Amino acid sequence: MLNISKQNKSALVPTNIARETIRQMAARRVEPTPENYQLIYNEIAEIPATENLHSAIRKALRQLPNETPEQNNWINRWEKLLKQHNWTALPALLGDGMDASITFSEQWPAAVRELLLAWDTKHIGLDLSQKKETLERLLINFGSDPLLAEKIQNLAKNWMQYDDSRVGQQAVVNTKSEDSTGEILVEAAAAESPSTALSTEVAAASDETPVIAAYDSDQFQETFRILQDMLKQSLNHGLIPRLDGYPELKEDALEVYILTEKARKLKDWQFMAKQFRALLVRVELIGANEEGMKQDLLRLLKLLIDNISELVADDQWIRGQIAVVQTIVSSPLERALIQDAEKSLKEVIFKQGMLKHSLNEAKSSFKNMIATFVDRLGYMSDSSGTYQEKIESYAGKLSETEDILQINELLENLMKDTHTMQAEIVRSREVLLQQRDNVESAQEKIRSLQEELTQLSEAVRVDQLTGVLNRRGLDEAMVREISRAKRGGGKLSVALLDIDNFKRLNDTYGHHVGDSALQHLAKTIKETIRPTDVVSRFGGEEFVILLPDTDLNQAVITIQRLQRALTKQFFMGNNERLLITFSAGVALLRNDEEEATVLHRADQSMYLAKKTGKNRVMTENELNAK
Ligand code: GH3
Ligand code: MG
Ligand code: MG
Repeated sequence: MLNISKQNKSALVPTNIARETIRQMAARRVEPTPENYQLIYNEIAEIPATENLHSAIRKALRQLPNETPEQNNWINRWEKLLKQHNWTALPALLGDGMDASITFSEQWPAAVRELLLAWDTKHIGLDLSQKKETLERLLINFGSDPLLAEKIQNLAKNWMQYDDSRVGQQAVVNTKSEDSTGEILVEAAAAESPSTALSTEVAAASDETPVIAAYDSDQFQETFRILQDMLKQSLNHGLIPRLDGYPELKEDALEVYILTEKARKLKDWQFMAKQFRALLVRVELIGANEEGMKQDLLRLLKLLIDNISELVADDQWIRGQIAVVQTIVSSPLERALIQDAEKSLKEVIFKQGMLKHSLNEAKSSFKNMIATFVDRLGYMSDSSGTYQEKIESYAGKLSETEDILQINELLENLMKDTHTMQAEIVRSREVLLQQRDNVESAQEKIRSLQEELTQLSEAVRVDQLTGVLNRRGLDEAMVREISRAKRGGGKLSVALLDIDNFKRLNDTYGHHVGDSALQHLAKTIKETIRPTDVVSRFGGEEFVILLPDTDLNQAVITIQRLQRALTKQFFMGNNERLLITFSAGVALLRNDEEEATVLHRADQSMYLAKKTGKNRVMTENELNAK
């Protein structure tokens, strides 16, 4: 086994032994500690086993507790013995160690007994949960202390004397029953120094004694300072900024903050705690009130929306907008969703405003034309009325005269009038035709505007930023594709993509670069997938792709192709080539499965892809294998 054979004793020079020792340590895979080195070195150098024993004892000594002067002394005596090979001192040394452990082990049963007794004894103003808290704190602070048994005994003694001391301190009991903060302070002191806790309690009860000075433990002062700091920070950064709509409460909270900052004596702390509790009760009340108000408003909004949609049953574009708001108020409110909806609604409302204006113009010119048309008709009937009258007067005159010259003159006038009349009729006809054309074109304009408006309301299904379907559009596409897959028996795969470290991209290059990255990804997806596949922005930086007639493997291949496409078509942000990666989860629609569950499975796989290092595609198969 050893490279240095016994035949070759000349090889046993220290450097060779050292080299071989290291080789052996590696070969035996032992921990590279000085002790192990020594053991193997001795083995190779054939040094007597007692040396091994020495180093083993030294190692064991180093692992023993060395906190009290007695322990320290005992270990020093051992080291001296090993150094001087003075084995005659061994019995005395072992005897002392034994004594210590006997004392140690004898103290424990007594400590446990006293603790049980004190635990079971009832004390006024000191309940089990307070005892438990004090004991836990003692164990945290002194759990590995050799004097733990003694400390537990002291604690038990304190509990047993609790009632007596409280009888003498009736005034203190009264203040404390009103103020639990004061009690906790006293309990904390008991845990830190059980033997002095009661006398400290008496001192702390004096109105003029500074609280911090009353407890002489450094650790307690530090804990106290941290608590005070935390309280101030909670007020300053947690509570006060949330009270903007409630100036009175805010003022009171500021006052509590100042009280906290200035509190030195127990009396100050008690006053502050009382004010603080009163403040919290009022804050809780406004919280409940606000929640109620939110629910009322939501109900009102729902009522309003439902009624508007009844009123505007024929108005396609308003119905489109209302449907969006209805979806939002019927699901749990999410700020991001509301902001999305607000953005798209604003856009639609703006465009609809413009179109409505044009529509109103078209309507008013239509009205004008009808008015002209009616005027013309009136004129025509006026003219034809005159014509009738003229014919009748000519006929009358004709029947009254026999004079050929007069008849001639009558006919000439009649011819002239008829001619004017005819020209008038032709002109009116032309005007009428013209009017009819105008009306037709105005009607056509109105029809096309209305169509445009209907399409615009459809646009609410499209994400404004990327131009792919939004969540609502996806819902509809999903219903369509699922029923198509079920009807035709085809396979439908669903992929959910989430851009990796997108927040960092936003933080580094700004939100507008983040927006362009989303557009770039949407464009690349559209260029990579088939026209029959459906792409949608699921929210934030997440996209869902529906892949009809595609099994799980083919879907994974498609998404990996998209990953490769992104490595080739760099995204340019801030004049830099930036690589966008995503993590994706792919799931296959099962028979009789609902939309929500297949998306959920895709989401879980995506989450697994994130967890296992990002920039990868995972399927439910890997998910199930986990
Ligand atoms: P992970 O790799 O774990 O997915 O980390 P992440 O940073 O991509 O994910 P996280 O969910 O922590 O952050 C997503 C970020 O996407 C936070 C949000 O500000 C940003 N974001 C969401 N919607 C938009 C948007 O429309 N435009 C921009 N620029 N950023 C958006
Ligand atoms: Mg995300
Ligand atoms: Mg992300």
